[in-house]
Amino acid sequence: MSKSVDIKVPDIGDFSEVEVIEILLNPGDQVNQEDPIITLESDKASMEIPSPVTGVLQKISVSVGDKVSEGAIIAVVESTNESTVVERDSLNSGEQSEGDGEADARALPDNPPQSSPDFIAATMSDADIYAEVVVLGSGPGGYTAAFRAADLGLDTLMIERYPTLGGVCLNVGCIPSKALLHAAKILDESREFAEHGIQFSAPKIDLDKLRGWKDSVVSKLTGGLTVLADKRKVKVIHAAAKFVDSKHIQVTAQDGTRQIVGFEKCIIAAGSEPLKLPFISPELYQDSRVIDSTGALDLTDIPQSLLVIGGGIIGLEMATVYHALGSEITVVEMLPGLMAGADKDIVRPFHNRVKKRYEGILLETRVTAVEAFEAGVKVTFDGKNAPAKPSVKTLNQPVYFDRILVAVGRVPNGKLLDADKAGVRVDDAGFIAVDNQQKTNVAHIFALGDIVGQPMLAHKAVHEGKVAAEVCAGMKSFFDARVIPSVAYTDPEVAWVGVTETEAKSQGINYAKGSFPWAANGRSLSLGRDEGLTKLLFDAETNKVIGGGIVGPNAGDLIAEVALAIETHCDAADIALTIHPHPTLAETVAMAAEVFEGTITDLYLPRKNK
Ligand code: NAD
Repeated sequence: MSKSVDIKVPDIGDFSEVEVIEILLNPGDQVNQEDPIITLESDKASMEIPSPVTGVLQKISVSVGDKVSEGAIIAVVESTNESTVVERDSLNSGEQSEGDGEADARALPDNPPQSSPDFIAATMSDADIYAEVVVLGSGPGGYTAAFRAADLGLDTLMIERYPTLGGVCLNVGCIPSKALLHAAKILDESREFAEHGIQFSAPKIDLDKLRGWKDSVVSKLTGGLTVLADKRKVKVIHAAAKFVDSKHIQVTAQDGTRQIVGFEKCIIAAGSEPLKLPFISPELYQDSRVIDSTGALDLTDIPQSLLVIGGGIIGLEMATVYHALGSEITVVEMLPGLMAGADKDIVRPFHNRVKKRYEGILLETRVTAVEAFEAGVKVTFDGKNAPAKPSVKTLNQPVYFDRILVAVGRVPNGKLLDADKAGVRVDDAGFIAVDNQQKTNVAHIFALGDIVGQPMLAHKAVHEGKVAAEVCAGMKSFFDARVIPSVAYTDPEVAWVGVTETEAKSQGINYAKGSFPWAANGRSLSLGRDEGLTKLLFDAETNKVIGGGIVGPNAGDLIAEVALAIETHCDAADIALTIHPHPTLAETVAMAAEVFEGTITDLYLPRKNK
């Protein structure tokens, strides 16, 4: 049975007399529940008023330029959807969620009719806090999205479960690790310079002071974020968030206080956490001798022997730190090489340097069991290089270590949010798929950063954050980066971007390359280092740069030029003919292009390589 339904302006917060700027449908049009009928625009934002029912639009009651307030009739729809009316009634009767017994008394029904005027009214009047845009998570992706949204005039709220802003990157990731890597560099360089005529006595390491300095770097940045949020009037709640439905989030503060947050749009930026190995029991993970990257950055002491499980970026950066501090390092990696993803020739100078320093690098080997004893953590290995090589210090077979660092990857936090209650699809691994505007399968809910997929890198999340915020503000922004650089801040640093040579070969790409060894670079030699290499890959037909890999001190800074070259479609001549300052490490990028072009004079090449 059909029924005429008046479509009214819902509760639109503090706004009244808001201008109608667009009529989106015409009388006679078929209208589905949730289809927007008109667009309103206040001085802060534009908002669409959707139909709460499915049916046929009978009449539009407003014109462009009219000013409307809450309750004004904007259209009449001949509804063919009786159930909606019934649901609206049950909503108004205060029916409650079936969720857990502790749920807030104001928790909303599990599946309310989303976006109906009554529903939105419930959002705004029943929520304890309301914001046009709620950003879930305050890591680099989250705070970038929140700040950009606020700068675009949207009323923005950021929810963070921990007491400080900044997420993993600022608190227990990129930033503290870089502070400790700098300390490691000072230790290593001062030791190594003995052979060049400057000898220091053995360093005295005041671990409390070093930790304090690292923490002060972190708090300067996280404190800075609080100031930036404040200046932009971004509201911040420190509480754990879970979706209640597609317009509400329940937040639980550390003291147990719960509140309901209503939103118009939501950006999920909830990140990832370290992957745990299934054969290490939860009790063992409580043992302070079994640590993940967060535990490693705590720097509680300097273990005599440290086993790093996982030869990826996190494991190898932490190995660099602890080796410089004095630990004996063993790395176990199940793949045939370290830093899978980078070309072998780029990783080799790093591998050659650390293999002389570490107790062992056990490739094609995995850990199969870990047990804790007073004498140490007993580790059982399996694979090509197990049991321990003679160079690995053993008390017995298997091997005992004072500490083990588990760095075998990260898992997205998609399963921690009850995102299904909002209708957002989360895959079995915990990832949330998005389109190139960061939209999830629910159009007003966005996601970004580690939670949307690899690579799990802060600089990717930051760009995605800007896109999500701009789309929320009605801009036609897209995430269309051609390349995302990767950097291991080890010693030497290893960095790569775009197509690797391994990928070029396996994909049958017609490529050519230019490689420049740093042994011929004056700046590198004057740093006391000669193992570096800069390699550029070019499309063999167009000479355009398609990829690059760099190993050597500061490779992470140098790779930015290659990323820019790819983004801006530079060819070899563009780079080779750009005058790079002398003497710099950056010259190696230009010289790799010259090697490709056959114009290099700093090396003698018997014949052109192209
Ligand atoms: P990863 O995936 O980069 O490396 C983990 C390594 O562990 C892999 O090589 C894998 O083969 C190995 N492994 C897995 N299980 C194993 C087992 N049982 N025994 C032995 N080896 C095993 O993961 P990560 O280093 O933990 O880093 C996680 C994410 O964080 C990555 O996406 C990384 O890019 C990102 N990250 C980036 C930076 C940076 O940009 N500098 C720093 C830290 C982390």
